Amino acid sequence: MSGFNKQLQVIPRIAWILGVVAYLCLSILLFAVALPGDRHMSEWNPIGKILFAFGIPLFMIVFVLLVGYVYGDAKRRGMPYVMWTLLAFFIPDGIGIILYFILRKPMPRPCPGCSQEVPSGFVFCPHCGTPLQPTCPSCGHAVERGWANCPSCGTKLPSQPGRAA
Ligand SMILES: [Zn+2]
Ligand SMILES: [Zn+2]
Repeated sequence: MSGFNKQLQVIPRIAWILGVVAYLCLSILLFAVALPGDRHMSEWNPIGKILFAFGIPLFMIVFVLLVGYVYGDAKRRGMPYVMWTLLAFFIPDGIGIILYFILRKPMPRPCPGCSQEVPSGFVFCPHCGTPLQPTCPSCGHAVERGWANCPSCGTKLPSQPGRAA
């Protein structure tokens, strides 16, 4: 799945490193300190101990990678990525991460004029001024293709502005 691989590339390398380090620390801590220290758990059979110590902390990796994904994805979407990374990390139960996926903005599109990435919703390219959306000839507000009248000023719009999409 190339789409999934592309998504993985959004995660910064530091998140992979942090995830693996956090995972190893937690596993070793569980295996070497928590398990032998607990009267009940120290009686488990060795395979159960290994599964527990190296399985539970897998959630740690997934969590760190998700926070890393929020960072990289918010950055490429032109969102306040520091704030979203902190929210994703500190709001418990992954609610910050879920909120991010609900509220994230659409991907920026390349400008047809200069091919720089422009956040969606912009009417003109901030770099070269190319119109990204048809506008009302009277008041300049963005209009949709196929509208007969401008919703802002009521001006009758030309049937189809001759602009190749
Ligand atoms: Zn442009
Ligand atoms: Zn108008």
